[in-house]
Amino acid sequence: MLIDMHTHSSGVSGCCRLNAEEIVEAAKNIGVDGIILTNHYTSDDCEDFPSSEDYIEHYINEYHLARSYGEKIGLKVFFGIEVTMNFADRIHLLVYGVKEDFLRENPCIYDLSLEELYETVHKNGGILVEGHPFRHNCPILDTNYLDALEINCHPLYKDTHYDVLYHAAKEAGVMLTCGSDYHGDTYRAECGVYIPDTAKTIKDIADYIKNTDVIKLRVQEINCEPDEREYRR
Ligand SMILES: [Zn+2]
Ligand SMILES: [Zn+2]
Repeated sequence: MLIDMHTHSSGVSGCCRLNAEEIVEAAKNIGVDGIILTNHYTSDDCEDFPSSEDYIEHYINEYHLARSYGEKIGLKVFFGIEVTMNFADRIHLLVYGVKEDFLRENPCIYDLSLEELYETVHKNGGILVEGHPFRHNCPILDTNYLDALEINCHPLYKDTHYDVLYHAAKEAGVMLTCGSDYHGDTYRAECGVYIPDTAKTIKDIADYIKNTDVIKLRVQEINCEPDEREYRR
């Protein structure tokens, strides 16, 4: 099954133009089998709520909205998080494989260092992926504390940097993932990671990415047809 590993919805990600149902509908229309909803999780957004508990319940509820609409129309929706880290400007890290309780138990993950977040996520059975490396000239972070680098097919970024990321990941022995980062933009990239149908939960997907040595991605570069690419770590 083809899973788009990076999507947003407007109920939590204010920069997104489509709500949870519309984002699920758009994914169904483009033909992927499922999405991971990776809404922004930030200390700035948290400050708009009376408490971090309120923010987290709101954040999790948005995932349940998307998931139940997905069940209605036949699209798999999994829980993910895109954390805006406070240790550096504009660094976004994707967390996969943890349960919703992870946020209730670790509300301030945006204040951690890369190493601390990696350890916290791993302790909870998840994986950590650097989202859209090179956006706004962000560097590739220390791959000792990353499970994968993301190939991001958002039209705003003009280029997925596939070749550079492919070689950087290979050199570091980490995986590649792929996602549209769709925010209701002018077009939606048809992209994602092929995950075995035996994976039923986000933990299964994270375990697959952690343990496999070869992965098949569907990548869509700007103004190009999508194509399939194989990566071997
Ligand atoms: Zn991002
Ligand atoms: Zn994003």
